[in-house]
Amino acid sequence: MSSDNTERFKKPLPKVNDLVHGILTNDLTILSKAITLIESTKPEHQKIANAVIEKCLGKKTETLRIGITGVPGVGKSTFIERFGKMLTKKGKKVAVLTVDPTSSKSKGSILGDKTRMQELISDPNAFIRPSPSGDSLGGVARKTRESIVLLETAGYNVIIIETVGVGQSETAVHDMVDFFLLLKLAGAGDELQGIKRGIMEMADAIAINKADGDNIKQAKQAETEFKRALHLFPPKDNGWVPQVIRCSAIKNRGLEIIWAMMENHFAQTKSSGHFNDNRRQQNKSWLLQYMEHILKMDFTKNSKVSKLLPVLTNEVMDGKISPFRAAEDIMLAYKSS
Ligand code: GDP
Repeated sequence: MSSDNTERFKKPLPKVNDLVHGILTNDLTILSKAITLIESTKPEHQKIANAVIEKCLGKKTETLRIGITGVPGVGKSTFIERFGKMLTKKGKKVAVLTVDPTSSKSKGSILGDKTRMQELISDPNAFIRPSPSGDSLGGVARKTRESIVLLETAGYNVIIIETVGVGQSETAVHDMVDFFLLLKLAGAGDELQGIKRGIMEMADAIAINKADGDNIKQAKQAETEFKRALHLFPPKDNGWVPQVIRCSAIKNRGLEIIWAMMENHFAQTKSSGHFNDNRRQQNKSWLLQYMEHILKMDFTKNSKVSKLLPVLTNEVMDGKISPFRAAEDIMLAYKSS
């Protein structure tokens, strides 16, 4: 959502208590409005959004957060739609958020297509929100993290965060979920080629999608290769051994097994305390990233800095002064203001 969306907030601005009450009663209009405030870049909107998040933090119910990644075309939206429908049938309330750093660029988003997940969109127990826009992945991720709090307060107990298998967005999503699922395709030549080591290392499971029709044999082969590859990584701190499962989203095959595996993961990590530890660490990194954000904002908005920075940048570019000297001068100006 672009910040232009916030133009619909005519004065007076919504009241914090009204928003919190609306979220607690799962009023979808108010929930969407509150998320739009989170996504806004206007300081007056952010102030309200922060107050709402603060009030919601203490009211959250028990929830599971699942990150799903994979290259475009692997079947993410098909998988999430079918998986989400399966969960709502089990009585879960499912929210789907996306982190798509490409959405802020004029080229258009990879995930933002409105026609995706039509069936899940019309499910009363599901809530789908496209990726917020932002100048940076950090900004997009921060807004998503904040929206999670509101969705959980509104009673959504399975939060799925989808991201594209390009760039650094996987790391950002991994940093806000309890379980990270990597979707892969079989039959594209060497199975392990083109897969970034870091992403494999982050995955709690690899699901080989489109294991149907002529693809079944290749999917089995891929399963063996991925299992072998995963063995080469050191064990995870929480003791979990990453799994490889074949599935066919379109044929609803393997989805129950994947959910059972996730439930097993949650049970194991909850009883060992790792589930809670992980969330505590994620809260810490939320704080640190937010601190970095407000420091940067304060810095770039500073009038002395904004005068001096372009001048000294030019001098550094021309080789007249060193970057260290320029940085020191800028910091001195910042601190003295
Ligand atoms: P995304 O870009 O990762 O979100 O992928 P989509 O969900 O849009 O799927 C891309 C294409 O693959 C679509 O044509 C889907 O119908 C198809 N697809 C998705 N899942 C499966 C599957 O399990 N088996 C087969 N054969 N096709 C699938």
